[in-house]
Amino acid sequence: MNATIAPVELSAADRCDRCGARAYIRVVLPGGADLLFCAHHGRTHEPALRERAVHFQDETGQLTGTPGTAPDGER
Ligand SMILES: [Zn+2]
Repeated sequence: MNATIAPVELSAADRCDRCGARAYIRVVLPGGADLLFCAHHGRTHEPALRERAVHFQDETGQLTGTPGTAPDGER
């Protein structure tokens, strides 16, 4: 183990602190506290968050090309 902030991949268990939707953005603040945001709230607060955060993890790219309907095999 080391002290660097490892990028932890966000999973379906990670929820937006604001609305409870699935989180795609993780922000680590000085001191190590982290915040989770869905794509919507992450974008809304991004400018302010980037100013303060020591680490800004954006996984909204995962949403690109994702169909709005359930994926194959998950009907
Ligand atoms: Zn949200």
